[in-house]
Amino acid sequence: MTRGELLSRVAETDSTFNRRGPDWVGKCLICNGPLAFDARTGEGATLEHIRARGRGGGDNLANLAVVHGSCNWEKGRRWDPKRRRSRADYDALVARLLEKRMARWRDAPPPPSRADRP
Ligand SMILES: [Zn+2]
Repeated sequence: MTRGELLSRVAETDSTFNRRGPDWVGKCLICNGPLAFDARTGEGATLEHIRARGRGGGDNLANLAVVHGSCNWEKGRRWDPKRRRSRADYDALVARLLEKRMARWRDAPPPPSRADRP
């Protein structure tokens, strides 16, 4: 799956996102600011693992979000293990973001299975 396809899958399940021609237009999960990206290339947005993979997060859609590159970078920097923020603070942030993701959730058509692809 390409970056554009993966970001599109996430946008399909986020009710703030709508298609505008070649783009998806919606809101960043972290800052709620306006965000648009090219559905084909993913250009303009970054895929966020709400709970980082290194902290036990998975690749399921509910753990993925479309965010600004700058927001993704800032979250990563703030929670760098070397900065010794507490595990409880991290869990609270993740819980807030997961809750926001669920509040925005929109049921999407099931994705085509890999077997359907040429
Ligand atoms: Zn943002």
